[in-house]
Amino acid sequence: MKIYLNGKFVEEEDAKISVFDHGLLYGDGIFEGIRSYDGVVFMLKEHIDRLYDSAKSLCIDIPLTKEEMIDVVLETLRVNNLKDAYIRLVITRGVGDLGLDPRKCGKPTIFCIAIPMPPLLGEEGIRVITVSVRRLPVDVLNPAVKSLNYLNSVLAKIQANYAGVNEAFLLDDKGFVVEGTGDNIFIVKNGVLKTPPVYQSILKGITRDVVIKLAKEEGIEVVEEPLTLHDLYTADELFITGTAAEIVPVFEIDGRVINNKQVGEITKKLKEKFKEIRTKWGIKVYDE
Ligand code: PMP
Repeated sequence: MKIYLNGKFVEEEDAKISVFDHGLLYGDGIFEGIRSYDGVVFMLKEHIDRLYDSAKSLCIDIPLTKEEMIDVVLETLRVNNLKDAYIRLVITRGVGDLGLDPRKCGKPTIFCIAIPMPPLLGEEGIRVITVSVRRLPVDVLNPAVKSLNYLNSVLAKIQANYAGVNEAFLLDDKGFVVEGTGDNIFIVKNGVLKTPPVYQSILKGITRDVVIKLAKEEGIEVVEEPLTLHDLYTADELFITGTAAEIVPVFEIDGRVINNKQVGEITKKLKEKFKEIRTKWGIKVYDE
């Protein structure tokens, strides 16, 4: 597997970065997880926009234009001859010294990894719990910034693992349920699709945006409003969305069974629609 690292493609065993890189020392960096389906990089422009917004927020000056960054992703797929892949694009503050002052870092470190990954969207549902670890408030470390610091999610995942379930849902500092460790949350109640709004502590998921768009196209009412535990426990349907997960139904939350452990009608419809558009809404890697 060939990895893009700071302007060159190198073999995996040669893809090494300094122990003085602030991405490693302080989690000082940003990233995107992206998918390609049958040679089309899904929502690539939107991922690159979010990456540059994260960079702007953290004052990381990316030395490539957005167009050049899109080419980095496309080239990484081409040199590895991949069509269905999971792509990890990472920018760190760069190599500095042991102090955390960002001014000590030279230029950002940029790497891009692509691994084969077949499309998902199976029918199975998952079990989740809500955990005692809270999502970081927007004025502490805004989850809208997709930073390399995922400790908040890691702590939540440890609790889910300990409880023997698939995923953890986090509450915000007010007690509203905001998101999973690496995914956004949707419920369906009386035919209305509901998801937490972006002013709460969430990452504005690209898949979240796609699902909202698809639902509206289907004439389904979509409401972005804060959700309580009660809203989730009494939901007609419950599912998560994310680049890696795609759309996954939740069959059980904190011991409450949702929709008799069946995939709900609206979830099913959205999964079908997503399957149709995932090879269309994106940028082609290869010429026809
Ligand atoms: N929330 C968090 C915390 C995430 O890490 C992710 C995955 N990037 C998501 C939501 C879903 O975002 P997306 O649909 O853009 O993958």
